[in-house]
Amino acid sequence: MVITGHEVILLGLPVDEPLAGGPSDPSRNRPTILLLLRTDEGVEGIGFTFLGAALSRALKVAVEDMAEMCIGHDPLDPEPLVAKISALAGGSGPAGIYTLALAAIDIALWDIRGKVSGQPLWRLLGGKDKPVPTYASGALMREFDDEVVPMACRRLVEAGHRHVKMQLALPGEYNREREIQRIGDIRAALGDDIGLMCDVNQRWTVQQAVEMGQAIAGFGLCWLEDPVAHDDLPGQATVAREQPVPIATGEYIYGLGGFSQLLDAAAPHFVMIDPFRAGGITPWLRIAELAHARGRPVVSHLAPEVQVHLIAAAPNGHTVEYMPWSIAMFKEVPWPRQGFLQPGKAPGLGLEIDAAAVKRYRLS
Ligand SMILES: [Mg+2]
Repeated sequence: MVITGHEVILLGLPVDEPLAGGPSDPSRNRPTILLLLRTDEGVEGIGFTFLGAALSRALKVAVEDMAEMCIGHDPLDPEPLVAKISALAGGSGPAGIYTLALAAIDIALWDIRGKVSGQPLWRLLGGKDKPVPTYASGALMREFDDEVVPMACRRLVEAGHRHVKMQLALPGEYNREREIQRIGDIRAALGDDIGLMCDVNQRWTVQQAVEMGQAIAGFGLCWLEDPVAHDDLPGQATVAREQPVPIATGEYIYGLGGFSQLLDAAAPHFVMIDPFRAGGITPWLRIAELAHARGRPVVSHLAPEVQVHLIAAAPNGHTVEYMPWSIAMFKEVPWPRQGFLQPGKAPGLGLEIDAAAVKRYRLS
């Protein structure tokens, strides 16, 4: 089998919030690059990537150029192909657009491998046929008004979610009392039975993170996510040591080496892996192994329709972040039911492109 062609499409997916019917913003979109990698035997691999933001057109071209390098190669033997891409374009890496583009290629190659084997990806990777824990993400954003947030909490509970994530580091100047008020309002609206995570997206100083971690410890957080700059390893170690809430981090790290340094320096309780910044599924699995060797669970970032396979297969897979930013491209995706996702039985990623949606959201 050889790769014979490709199609790369830049989509502007809707900025909506389908989990709790939260505010949407029709004036914006989420640029997403969809890759279809075609073979001489009619098998088509689906890959995608984003996080290119205002440089998404450049990311699209990078995916196209890499896909062109795949022509004539056996998709079932990816190592020589990745070596070729590295030799031709690796100088533009190892992070940034190079890695984001490589992620789309790698995901499509795994989809082809699954389809050829006739197995869903989670099974191909050694996972068991059982529901995977998941949590609702993106429905309790820091920008949302004080009135919207408790309403969204009630909707999430009514919809059956068992764990949800909120954000702190509210807009404007740091205000300790306002932060505590927000988490208190959310805990009150959710009740005590719902697991709660909190993402700070690197917006606190080390001192603020220590102070806030101590102040909000009584709200029973499952984890505090990226309280400080991801590359401030001594700062991360201080936060982990001097306040009691477990720490999750990792989504901002590109490739394997950064995770090794993070685990050595700060040993977060939960290692969060982004499939795009990781460079695709192959490096994702290596990062999960590294975390497993250090006794740390892994949690996913974005792309739940891909990550469900990986969390299901990793022995230390803990939970899938249900952040539904990419679901609009597909006809059907696994959907959270009572806090779990059921991985599909269809081969590969088990995803089918929604042609009408691709037409609707296509930018170029
Ligand atoms: Mg995060």
